[in-house]
Amino acid sequence: MDRRILHVDIDAFLASVEQLRDPALIGRPVAVGTGVVASRSYEAKARGVHTAMPLHEARRRCPELIVREGDARLCERYRQRVAEIVRRFAPVVEVCSLDDFYADLTGVPLRVEQELEDATATAGERSLQGLCRQLRAAVRAETGLSIAQGLGSSRTVARLATTKAKPGGICEVAPGGETTFLADFPVEAVPGIGPKTAAWLQQVGVTTVQQLWVVDRELLRQSFGARGDELWLRCRGLDDAPVRATPTLHSISRETSFEPRTDFGSQSTAFLRAMLAYLLDRASSELRAQRLLARTVQVRVRHTDGGLGERSRTLGEPTDRTDVCMVVAGELLDELLQRRVLVRLVGVTLASLQPPRAVQGSLFGDDGKARHQLFAAVDAVRARHGFGALVVGAAAGLLGQLPAGKHGFRLRTPSLTK
Ligand SMILES: [Mg+2]
Repeated sequence: MDRRILHVDIDAFLASVEQLRDPALIGRPVAVGTGVVASRSYEAKARGVHTAMPLHEARRRCPELIVREGDARLCERYRQRVAEIVRRFAPVVEVCSLDDFYADLTGVPLRVEQELEDATATAGERSLQGLCRQLRAAVRAETGLSIAQGLGSSRTVARLATTKAKPGGICEVAPGGETTFLADFPVEAVPGIGPKTAAWLQQVGVTTVQQLWVVDRELLRQSFGARGDELWLRCRGLDDAPVRATPTLHSISRETSFEPRTDFGSQSTAFLRAMLAYLLDRASSELRAQRLLARTVQVRVRHTDGGLGERSRTLGEPTDRTDVCMVVAGELLDELLQRRVLVRLVGVTLASLQPPRAVQGSLFGDDGKARHQLFAAVDAVRARHGFGALVVGAAAGLLGQLPAGKHGFRLRTPSLTK
């Protein structure tokens, strides 16, 4: 069976995220970068601002250019959300660079057709382009971002097709049409041909893919080794490199060590509880940013004598609410503090992650709905002013105990997601 590879690229990713964060920027020329332009809005492109251009040159061409530094964390969240949406449409998804993805859609239309019991679906809606249009609409509706998509029989063809689809389009190269499609691309457009290789090829009079076809396979092999062989295949659309599924997030962990605290000579459980609340707050914020729910809460402690304790519990319903998780985590902590040895590390893990089901909203009572709105508001304030802008619940016990800043309390050995 012919392979059908989909390449997805987010249009003007970093600049678009800035426009989503600050709607006043929509429709205006925006560039993201320090020193050089890392990303620019299409309004900026229309004014002659290009990626990799020095910012002073960009400002000269477009004096009203709005320049932002960008927010790496926010972009990562958007990237994960787009990846999550692509995964709903394709069984195998590879998250590539900052803003592009490959998906293997080989055999997918058949499956979609079988699942589409809806007799009203037309043949057109079952084609891969129909799937691409649905994907584009889903990304637009759920993130506000625009994507360009390329379809072809290999990664190279799909990727180059995307360049023809920018911005917002879908370009499909039909099986058998690969060589005609590739012929006129400049050689440096082929993935794997960098400036050095392109310069070498130019010296021997090769600037387009069509001209590259004439170069002997053995010569490419001698000049570039195994990579030369790869180039020979790629420029003919014959590369068979697979799409490798990028693992999805399985758990979110936060932990830190600290100087053991005592109250009147015995363990300060208030401090431990506050630390746990703070770590859990960070983990559950990330959970919400990833648009996931957790079904399992695990708490661990390490004692000053090296002993390690771990407890976990499965929730009746998956949740992304900090307060619901904290009730369980607090009970687990109490169980772990039976030993009369001081604790020097606390950690929490949210696991058995799953995307929310569409019907779930209706299952919450009024209290649940209000709580969800509350956490959404907390997340929005933090996205704007930093995590430290709000201290939630029992984490307030850390106030005055640990140095705090815009991005929250400064932990001694903070850990990232496992
Ligand atoms: Mg892009």
